[in-house]
Amino acid sequence: RVFTGVLPAWDRVEEAVQDAHRRSSSAADGSVADYIPALANADPDLFGVCVVETDGAVHGAGDTDAAFSIQSVSKVLTYALASDTVGHDVIAERIGVNSTGQSFDSVMAIELNGGHTMNPMVNAGAIATTALLPGADAGERWEILHDAFSRFAGRSLELDEDVYRSEAEHNQRNMAIARLLESYGRLDVEPLEIVDVYTKQCSLRVTARDLAVMGATLADGGVNPVTDDHVVSPEACTATLAVMATSGLYERSGEWLFEIGIPGKSGVSGGILAVVPGKAGIGVYSPPLDDAGNSVRGQRSLAYLSRVLGLNLFASA
Ligand code: GLN
Repeated sequence: RVFTGVLPAWDRVEEAVQDAHRRSSSAADGSVADYIPALANADPDLFGVCVVETDGAVHGAGDTDAAFSIQSVSKVLTYALASDTVGHDVIAERIGVNSTGQSFDSVMAIELNGGHTMNPMVNAGAIATTALLPGADAGERWEILHDAFSRFAGRSLELDEDVYRSEAEHNQRNMAIARLLESYGRLDVEPLEIVDVYTKQCSLRVTARDLAVMGATLADGGVNPVTDDHVVSPEACTATLAVMATSGLYERSGEWLFEIGIPGKSGVSGGILAVVPGKAGIGVYSPPLDDAGNSVRGQRSLAYLSRVLGLNLFASA
């Protein structure tokens, strides 16, 4: 164990989680993503908040066991895994670490950067990161990825076949991004096969509790605090938290860090995973999104937790 849990006392955290859920439930703005048809069916009222401490303590409020497709939050785990495999210098050079300031599916961000991806937390960099995973072919890469995601969660994760099929029929833009990267010599593998693995990784079913356990694993130097499994190295966690901080909420990443002050990553199904290094992982699920594609209640409840539990990494008092 690299770190030890140092959040406030158990009952204070418990109360803060209940309060964060209650106070954010009334936020009625935002709308459920519909560019992937299967996502449009999500129940907008589902709302779960879960904190898992690095000593394994679990605090939950609301729908912490409601399942949803992980979507862009998967980018965090793939990056940690690829980083662990290819190492710091290769991942930095191949993928990039700076924010794009553009939407998650931006093509301009590639064009303006000379054909090079800018960071792994948006689609272009995430697809290029999936291409760095070990494995002789797409089938092996998928197995390695599925196994690692399950170890991050501490349980075997299932593919949401409906979401996968629906997204596979509507991901022309991601295919175009992969072809564009190929044209710049930035992909060493067959582009459409990689988009398929990427689409599957986005379609794995998780809960807010799973996101919190995954976050706690990243907070704990790569050791899952519930199962004690060593999933990735501490160095891979450090690198992953840095890119989450610069780019985890797309074009709103600066505002997020300014207001909340901890690394986070959102996805279009309404999940947010946040990490308090050394202390805890936080998972939130609520489908209505703001216009950048970030969960409205997710952001609100995380802002509350950060404030009352003193989580902001930039605060010195
Ligand atoms: N699977 C989605 C896509 O690639 C993920 C996007 C997201 O969650 N922002 O379009």
